[in-house]
Amino acid sequence: MNPDIVLEARTLKKSYHKDRIEVPVLKGIDLSVERGLVTTLVGRSGSGKSTLMHLLAALDHPDCGEIRFCGERIDNASRARRDAYRNRNLGIIFQFYHLLPELSAIENVLAPLMISQSALSYFRNRKEAKRRAEAMLDRVGLLHRAAHKPSEMSGGEMQRAAIARSLMANPSLLLADEPTGNLDTDTGRDILKLLRTLNEDDDLTILMITHDDSIAETADHCYRMKDGLLESDSAKLQVA
Ligand code: ADP
Ligand code: MG
Repeated sequence: MNPDIVLEARTLKKSYHKDRIEVPVLKGIDLSVERGLVTTLVGRSGSGKSTLMHLLAALDHPDCGEIRFCGERIDNASRARRDAYRNRNLGIIFQFYHLLPELSAIENVLAPLMISQSALSYFRNRKEAKRRAEAMLDRVGLLHRAAHKPSEMSGGEMQRAAIARSLMANPSLLLADEPTGNLDTDTGRDILKLLRTLNEDDDLTILMITHDDSIAETADHCYRMKDGLLESDSAKLQVA
C-alpha cells in the first residue's frame, strides 16, 4: 500500500439497465488520488463522471472492482462502515449546491451536524457547533451572509455556503462534482481559487470533476474519462 494514495479504485465497472438492456457506463476504471494534491477528472457530459463519484463516495455500489480509502476496502463494507467513511473523511460538493432552501447559510452549514447527532447532544454542543460554523463561513468569505437564505444569495455565494458545510467535519478529502458548472467564468475562477487555497493552506486533498479542459488543466494531476475508461493526463500537464 502506498501511503501517499488516499483513495484508490481498481477495475471498477458499472452498468445501468434500461428496458432490460444493459448500458455499460464504467468499463474498468483505475484511479489513484494522491494525498495533498488537486486531481481533476474531465470528460464530456454523460461520460460517467457523476456515476464514478457516487461510487467513490460509497453512495452506490460498483458491479465489480475495488475501492480503497487509505488502504481499507469500502466498496464491500457494511452500510454503517460506508456511512462512517463518508461522514468522517469526505466533504462533498455539487454543481447545484444542494442547500436546503428554507434554511439560512449558517443553518445549512450546521444541518449535517443536527441530523447526525441526537437532539440532546446537539443541544449540549450547539455553542461550539455555531462557533465552528461561523469560522467555516469566514473561511470561505461568507460570514456576512450567515443569515441569508439561498434565494437571497448569488450562485457563487451558494457554492461558498456548500463548501463551508462540506468542511464542518474536517474532511481529509473533498469530492467536488462540477463545482463551477453553474457559475459564470469569473465567479467560477473565484471558487477554484478558494479550493486551491483550502488545498494549500489546510492540506485538503481534492478530487474535482469537470467537463471543462481549461479547469482540468489547473490541477496537479488530471484524468480524462473516455469510453468508460480513464486516461491519465499527467504527462501532458508536466510538459505544459
Ligand atoms: P456525467 O456526470 O459524466 O455527465 P453520469 O454519470 O451522470 O455522466 O451518466 C452517465 C450515463 O449513465 C448517462 O448516459 C446517463 O444517462 C446514465 N445514467 C446515470 N445515472 C443513471 C441511472 N440512475 N439510471 C440509468 N442511467 C443512468
Ligand atoms: Mg455529472
